[in-house]
Amino acid sequence: MIKRVRYLFTGVVQGVGFRPFIFRMATRHLLSGFVQNRPDGVVVEVEGPADAIHSFMSGVNREPPPLADVSEISSEEVEIRNDKAFLIIESEARGPGKVHIAPDIATCGDCLKELFDPADRRFRYPFINCTNCGPRLTIIKDVPYDRINTSMSCFPMCSLCREEYENPGDRRYHAEPIACPACGPQLTLLDGKGTPLSDGDPLEKAIEFLHSGFVVAIKGLGGFHLAVDAANDEAIKRLRSRKFREEKPLAVMVRDVETARSISKIGKEEELILLSPQRPIVLAKKRKGERISPAVAPGVSDFGIMLPYTPLHHMLLEKNFRALVMTSANQVDEPICIENREAVKRLDGIADWFLVHNRDILVRCDDSIATVSSGERRIIRRSRGFAPIPITLAKPYPPVLALGPQMKTTLCILKGNLAFLSPHIGDMETPEARDFYRETLGLMKKIAECDPGIVACDLHPGYYTTKLAEGLTASSRVIRVQHHHAHIVSSMAENGIEGEVIGIAMDGTGYGTDGTVWGGEFLVASEAAFTRVGHITNYLLPGGEKAIREPWRIAVSLLRQAYGDDWTDVAKSLDIVPEKSFYETMDRIMKQGFNSPLTSSLGRIFDGVAVILGLRKKVTFEGQAAMELEAMARYGSGRVMQFGIEEAGDIIHLDFSPMIRAITKRLQAGKDSGELAFSFHLTLQVAFCKMARTIRDKTGLNRVVLSGGCFQNRILTEGTIAELEKAGFDVFFHNAIPANDGCISLGQAVCAGAQAMR
Ligand code: ZN
Ligand code: ZN
Ligand code: FE
Repeated sequence: MIKRVRYLFTGVVQGVGFRPFIFRMATRHLLSGFVQNRPDGVVVEVEGPADAIHSFMSGVNREPPPLADVSEISSEEVEIRNDKAFLIIESEARGPGKVHIAPDIATCGDCLKELFDPADRRFRYPFINCTNCGPRLTIIKDVPYDRINTSMSCFPMCSLCREEYENPGDRRYHAEPIACPACGPQLTLLDGKGTPLSDGDPLEKAIEFLHSGFVVAIKGLGGFHLAVDAANDEAIKRLRSRKFREEKPLAVMVRDVETARSISKIGKEEELILLSPQRPIVLAKKRKGERISPAVAPGVSDFGIMLPYTPLHHMLLEKNFRALVMTSANQVDEPICIENREAVKRLDGIADWFLVHNRDILVRCDDSIATVSSGERRIIRRSRGFAPIPITLAKPYPPVLALGPQMKTTLCILKGNLAFLSPHIGDMETPEARDFYRETLGLMKKIAECDPGIVACDLHPGYYTTKLAEGLTASSRVIRVQHHHAHIVSSMAENGIEGEVIGIAMDGTGYGTDGTVWGGEFLVASEAAFTRVGHITNYLLPGGEKAIREPWRIAVSLLRQAYGDDWTDVAKSLDIVPEKSFYETMDRIMKQGFNSPLTSSLGRIFDGVAVILGLRKKVTFEGQAAMELEAMARYGSGRVMQFGIEEAGDIIHLDFSPMIRAITKRLQAGKDSGELAFSFHLTLQVAFCKMARTIRDKTGLNRVVLSGGCFQNRILTEGTIAELEKAGFDVFFHNAIPANDGCISLGQAVCAGAQAMR
């Protein structure tokens, strides 16, 4: 029986080779009809015997193009038209759409073969790409995704490229960034002042300079990297001192998985992520006997490793370097550089040379970061390769724009059952970062094709994002969401769960509803509401913000809480305070509570315990002490120390003073600090589980949802999940979005959406 069926595919289905794929599948099954890009998706009509149509669809479902991400397929039977052939019809004009922009994807195997094939016309051409790979998000200036709306619009195709572009049987059919040496972008090498080098091959020269220890800024996919030879200590030191980045770990790009394996422990999961088309930086445990400079990542337990993801990277590393340091090119707290002149200006005095090209980057996109814990992939920074693919939620919500927090921020637009989460934007501390934030806001509205009237933001009145929400037009409704509630809701949303749960949010800081600084929270939460049922016992943060950079202040506060007025004796014996005169001042400001806000933050306890264990008195970047404490505990064993759980009215306090006393006592008795670091981690896991059981006894809830930056610590997370599961809890944690503040905008969006629905 002859039938004609009409299908509508929505999701990431344009710019990913979907139409030629449908064409091949339909002709393989001898069906007639057509395929067409429409504003609302890809429309397919196939006509032929019912069983042929059936096999056609099972083929489509079985082997879709690698970059396609079909979110929905609808179908209906339509009238037979007796078509003679199967055709690809030109796109319809744009309108409000359901078509998503694809992310940037690493060079595919087919393109790599051509890149290194002397007989190919794109031999050693650094901008080779196809429908399965290459730039996408980072070259768009508008939607829909057509060459005219990208930074390739200024490169007219040569006749050979055009032939490939227009041939449905070619693997570059409608590959919008298609290019070749005759018609496409070219490399140039600039000196430190931005003057082009007139003679020699730019790439060969850049390689030569890297070998000599120079700092070379390299234009990549979503921005510039600063590169140096990862084996050259002097070059790394030079880069660090110029970038004012004394100790923060630097990412490295290695030639292949074998090289990655020689410097870090790469299991099956890590290997899959390294090789995935998104090519994020993978955090993996260092091997003993490092084979790259220890200056790359001093004091921490992991290296951040990525594989080449552009043709240029492949050519740079091939035969030349085992590993290159490749760190985002920016000044402290500023966004990554994307434009050639901008780079030369902003990186003046940092980069010696600039390897640039004339294909403009239109959207800033940092490298994504992932790691493996409890055997699963965890995204720590969601950016290149992932953004702007929306996250599919369990149910639809009214449109919401969520502005995110102050640090590690992202923003999010909720539309139907999709959450369009922006690429990582970063910290809102500089005017440049705020410009980047507004750029991203405009872009995300275009991509989501939505400008919601409901706006969600944080409770903190001082955040840039909060002020932005307040400055909006009177017609928009602003909904404020508490930071840790947003953490828990984002983890719920990602896991597709609803209703009341026990939420454990552990992080640095967030603005509480009672004016104190929260950060060690036990909530009973649903999407729209929460109750704070417990928290880590409040302690003082002497000096406020200053305590973040000078964690010895936190150590002092923890000791005072544990020992009362005797704290000075213990602090002296452990040499906690950098100057003698500080003992008296600290005592005074804590007694008066002067500039010493109360906090329940677990992140700050990590900082304080690191000081007590003799790690460091000052830090050069946030989270440094905590990362080093984790590294210290890596090879340890230990045992659970004491802690207190006290119910005060309807709130439960988790008191770590007994643990602080146990740590100092054992330290004074000469115990190994690595063992104590591990015991500290162990105690937290057991304490969290005990808290969850206490809350379960009161509420009957059995689902526990984890979130917060502290759960980037793999020892803590793996241990806590195992402990909770042993106690019979259903445990939910992040996978696809970060546990850190990168998840806040999603949580804000879903919370506000749920509130608006009530
Ligand atoms: Zn390719
Ligand atoms: Zn060409
Ligand atoms: Fe947070």
